Amino acid sequence: MASNLTERLSRLVKTMRGQSRITESNVQDMLREVRMALLEADVALPVVRDFIARVKEKSLGAEVVSSLTPGQVLVSIVQKELAATMGEGIADIDLAVQPPAIILMAGLQGAGKTTTTAKLAKHLIEKRKKKVLTVSADVYRPAAIEQLKTVTAQAGAEWFPSTPDQKPRDIALAAIDFAKKHYFDVLLFDTAGRLAIDEVLMAEIKELHALLKPVETLFVVDAMQGQDAVNTAKAFKDALPLTGVVLTKLDGDSRGGAALSVRQITGVPIKFAGVSEKIDGLEVFDAERHAGRVLGMGDIVALVEEVQKGVDIEAAQKLAEKVKSGVDFDFNDFLSQISQMKKMGGLSGLIDKLPTELASKAGQADMGKAERDMRRMEGIICAMTAKERRQPSLLMDGKSKASRKRRIAAGAGVQIQEVNRMLNQFEQMQTMMKKMRGGGLMKMMKRMGG
Ligand code: GDP
Repeated sequence: MASNLTERLSRLVKTMRGQSRITESNVQDMLREVRMALLEADVALPVVRDFIARVKEKSLGAEVVSSLTPGQVLVSIVQKELAATMGEGIADIDLAVQPPAIILMAGLQGAGKTTTTAKLAKHLIEKRKKKVLTVSADVYRPAAIEQLKTVTAQAGAEWFPSTPDQKPRDIALAAIDFAKKHYFDVLLFDTAGRLAIDEVLMAEIKELHALLKPVETLFVVDAMQGQDAVNTAKAFKDALPLTGVVLTKLDGDSRGGAALSVRQITGVPIKFAGVSEKIDGLEVFDAERHAGRVLGMGDIVALVEEVQKGVDIEAAQKLAEKVKSGVDFDFNDFLSQISQMKKMGGLSGLIDKLPTELASKAGQADMGKAERDMRRMEGIICAMTAKERRQPSLLMDGKSKASRKRRIAAGAGVQIQEVNRMLNQFEQMQTMMKKMRGGGLMKMMKRMGG
């Protein structure tokens, strides 16, 4: 999905340049793209509708700085709204009760409940220094009980035995009793899942909830379920007072949209994300990072913000025009280019904000070296007279070029070879710019760094 959404949004970013506001009339097309993108990301339809309505409300009348397009501004609003919808800050497990704190795990079979139970045990042992007991009430599948035993051992937690001939409520009572007697801080209660929602299953887990009075009731859901995740989430939310969600299999090729749907439907925070089959494949869920991932835009949004902060895009555009023609490019232009770049956080800062694919290409060049070179060039240019800056040819084939170069070298505090090297690079750059015809600053930087 990432690529699709990126494509759509990139197209969007380019549209309607020169319009200074987002209005009823220009927002429709843009929102249609966003809507399609979200549906392709497997976000459920009602959730998409709500989301679009909120984005529309926030974007209507939003100020668009002249150097940005309404599309760019909208993308930035979309990303922020995505993050806000997926959660606010980071929500950890609540353990502020008389021990044992009981955590009830709910979800369909195959969602990753058992695996997550063990991962969570490990997390609570390592990060919260708790003594953790696990137990399974999946009396319908003996293999599930065995599975919990195995993964609990991997997690370094303790497992409380249960057998298929027991009733879930008896298992619950025995486990609580054992946890109390042996001073466990946390009891993780794994439950039976079914392949689909069914009444008996829901009645059973409701009864267990009433008996256990858990401090956390976590709904475990497979991110790859996409649209179906919504129905499941709704059924569990109606049956149980959920306190959080664990979104599993985010490492797979899920399209990430489930996070949005599930968060919206359940109204509770996504607390953890499963990111591998392994016991340590659990991460505290970070909404902002996930929104960035769903959007797949690297951080074009941050770039937009930099621009809004006041980088002089008009000047940059004029320069770009000049660069395109290649003929007039002089040392003043070069200085102005360097200062634009500095305002945007230097070369490496700029690269961090590019979409991943571009950034990795640019990253092949040695940015540190390119930046050092640029600083040196800046120093040399500053030592030139105004005339020399306007007329680089004076230093390249002018009569008094040798004495001019000596003077500049002394002024900049560098060897004359440095000045020559810089002039060489400047010349190469001029040639290259003619060839590139405005093909981008990045290419030039790559050459310089290499
Ligand atoms: P349960 O039926 O809900 O208890 O599900 P399980 O814990 O048995 O998990 C079902 C399958 O999903 C197993 O093969 C797990 O290894 C796998 N699984 C669980 N969580 C993740 C995850 O975050 N990433 C990946 N790749 N696989 C997972």
